[in-house]
Amino acid sequence: MKAISIFQKGSHQWLCFGRDPEKVEKIIDTNQYMISSGEQSIILDPGGIELFSQMLTSVLRYTTLDNIKALFASHQDPDIISSLGLWDQCLKNSKLYSPWLWESFIRHFGMNNIQYEPIPDEGSEMTLGNVTLQFIPAHYLHSSGNMHVYDKEAKILMSGDVGAALDEITAPFFVEDFDAHIPKMEYFHRRWMPSNKAKEEWISRVRRLEIDIIAPQHGGIFKGEMVNTFLDWFERLDVGIAKNK
Ligand code: FE
Repeated sequence: MKAISIFQKGSHQWLCFGRDPEKVEKIIDTNQYMISSGEQSIILDPGGIELFSQMLTSVLRYTTLDNIKALFASHQDPDIISSLGLWDQCLKNSKLYSPWLWESFIRHFGMNNIQYEPIPDEGSEMTLGNVTLQFIPAHYLHSSGNMHVYDKEAKILMSGDVGAALDEITAPFFVEDFDAHIPKMEYFHRRWMPSNKAKEEWISRVRRLEIDIIAPQHGGIFKGEMVNTFLDWFERLDVGIAKNK
């Protein structure tokens, strides 16, 4: 599994883990993010059970188990959080921040030690080291209870499945050619995002934020002018359509 730093200022850092060469066929490659500040770290969408050992090895190059204060799950899908039961055996005094709606489902992945911190529908925030992280509502994009993470200081929005692309594991971490990227994400957004209304509400919500990077859970990361290019494209896209490409 590869890791790159997508932001660093002093001890405040964002890392992206992904492009797993050991990924088996028919599993989607995922991006896992870790934010650190001071002595504290949080892992965002820590991933599926199948990549837990690679993730643990990768993460421990940058932090310690004691410093992993929290996990975040944007929604309930297994590619995001089915590793929970294994993290639960390693982490002491750690919390899982996730939409309140999914608590009784996510607990099925196994939670004996980690404490569930339900995020209310309107969103909330948490302090990590010296930074404040905001949980931004993204309901029905695609899950009925769905949150994103915004870091105002780093100007990064971790956008879960919004902006996700199905790409090769050899693909670069950042989107370089937007037009060439469209076919990798268009069907995914049309089919998995159920509501144009939810999409429009989310776009107007995030357009009010200052964003340098949109970091999705699959595929390339949008940086700089690509952020608005993506929002404009998503705004025009008709979603909630279940028919083949
Ligand atoms: Fe999902």
